[in-house]
Amino acid sequence: MPEGHVVERVAREHTERFRGQRLRVSSPQGRFVEGAALLDGHVLLGVSALGKHSLHRFAADGDARSRNDLYLHVHLGLYGKWSGASLPVPDPVGAIRVQLVGDDGWAQLRGATACEVITAPEVRDLRARLGEDPLHSKEGGAKAYSRLSGSSRAIALALMDQTVTAGVGNAYRAEILFRHGLWPFTPSSQISPELWSQLWTDLQRLMRAGVREGRMVTTERADRTRRSGPAREDDQYYVYRRAGLACRRCGTPIAVQDLAGRNLFWCPSCQAA
Ligand SMILES: [Zn+2]
Repeated sequence: MPEGHVVERVAREHTERFRGQRLRVSSPQGRFVEGAALLDGHVLLGVSALGKHSLHRFAADGDARSRNDLYLHVHLGLYGKWSGASLPVPDPVGAIRVQLVGDDGWAQLRGATACEVITAPEVRDLRARLGEDPLHSKEGGAKAYSRLSGSSRAIALALMDQTVTAGVGNAYRAEILFRHGLWPFTPSSQISPELWSQLWTDLQRLMRAGVREGRMVTTERADRTRRSGPAREDDQYYVYRRAGLACRRCGTPIAVQDLAGRNLFWCPSCQAA
């Protein structure tokens, strides 16, 4: 599933490509025809990311102070993907839920879980519901901590809860726990403020690097098979999707188990109870 860094990159790309332009919005696939009609011909004011959600803000008159602005709300889910480039728009291939065409470029969305038009009050509700996003928060993890620290729920579950930490998915969850030697089933209530602060700072660092590089790399150079140059694909992670392979630090086979419907990866030795 695309995690927060992917959504943030889309927001930045689309802001750069389309901001201030009157867009042609359509739904070649046909499933978003009414929504597209609401936005078609409006000016894109900007795109923001919030956890795994993106919000394209439109105003009919292009006025940033508009009170009639509308938002294209997208959640990519497991299979959603944006594509795009400079004009001309290619012939439609596959099920394109929404297509944006500006002065110089285009973008197409396929396979998203959510694609809808919402209003400013609905955006506020969404923001209130979602947890703290390491890529955007100025609260230093305090809001997320307040939402997890009272619970005996496993830290591995809390980290995946979008009302606690928004934008963190399965890969960042597994990797951050490994990097801090934390047993995934540690009750959240046992995470001290000091430890949480370390986890949060590290999450921010990794996710910002993910935005910059356009991919997730969580390994330190010293722990990679090849220590020079950019990390190769098989050197990207410590534990994520490495079940049965030797731990980079201790050689123990990486474990995997189902936790609330998602695979949880960890090193039974480096992250012992
Ligand atoms: Zn290990």
